[in-house]
Amino acid sequence: ILVLFVGLILAFCFYSGNEDFKPEMLKGKRVIVTGASTGIGEQMAYHLARMGSHILITARTEAKLQKVVAQCLELGAASASYISGSMEDMAFAQSVVRKAEELWGSLDMLILNHVSPSNFSYFNGDIAHMQKVLNINFLSYVTMTVAALPMLKDSGGSIIVVSSFAGKVAFPLTAYYSATKFALDGFFSSLRQEFVMQNSNVSITLCVLGLIDTETAMKAVSGVVQSSAAPKEECALEIIKGGALRQREIYYEYLSTKIPLLIRDWAPNLLDYIIQMHYNVEKLKD
Ligand code: NDP
Repeated sequence: ILVLFVGLILAFCFYSGNEDFKPEMLKGKRVIVTGASTGIGEQMAYHLARMGSHILITARTEAKLQKVVAQCLELGAASASYISGSMEDMAFAQSVVRKAEELWGSLDMLILNHVSPSNFSYFNGDIAHMQKVLNINFLSYVTMTVAALPMLKDSGGSIIVVSSFAGKVAFPLTAYYSATKFALDGFFSSLRQEFVMQNSNVSITLCVLGLIDTETAMKAVSGVVQSSAAPKEECALEIIKGGALRQREIYYEYLSTKIPLLIRDWAPNLLDYIIQMHYNVEKLKD
């Protein structure tokens, strides 16, 4: 009976997936993508470009942003612009939204994806670093959301929050990162409920990602975590689909992220043990 029950739940989850997604849903939409100079954010920008969106991308490295913008225009973006700066600075986070307002006077989708670089290492008690990572990975997400809400309410738009499996299940060697990703879940899941209670037409999609083959992630886990990585191009598309369909959460890859959550609340020690088995701490960099 239990197997049948779990099977039914999984079938339902798969059924309520991305069946109705059509790339035309993004045509002409005005979208901000943060952390789009590399990795998953860069791939999201390319998908949106092919779908004919207006795109505003941001990150710190101007030269990389210029290349991504040029590529987006080649791929068919309705328009593509960038603004460079660091999300450690909340004034900059606000200025990204202001730039969208200047460009378009409106906004349909806010994709919050940037992340502070982090290594796999034991927690070393560096509170200044914790503060910095919180600013970049969490507070700037909240700041941009607050700044963008008036435009998103007008358009009935969407907020897409790129989180991690490490924001649902705690992993060793990622204390700084994991703390910020759990914070995103707490904040945005609370906000989503408030939107429903206030009849707000803005959707929030939390994206729970497993290991993805971006350059940064591959470098960080190299040798330490024994786990296969999923392709960033497909991951980027799944995030956009989830946002366009206004899903509450997306899990990518589904089974490797969703199944451990079933164990998490019922047998946490077992899950900890399984996680630790995948770590090779002898390979940790100094
Ligand atoms: P990347 O490291 O490839 O890209 C991170 C982006 O954030 C870059 O564009 C980077 O550009 C930008 N960025 C970094 N620091 C700052 C800063 N201070 N201010 C503004 N922008 C900054 O990351 P991924 O593509 O791997 O990850 C994207 C998202 O997916 C993240 O939220 C991550 O947590 C999540 N995720 C990724 C997983 C993976 O395995 N790859 C697994 C689970 C979740 P620049 O350096 O030019 O500023």
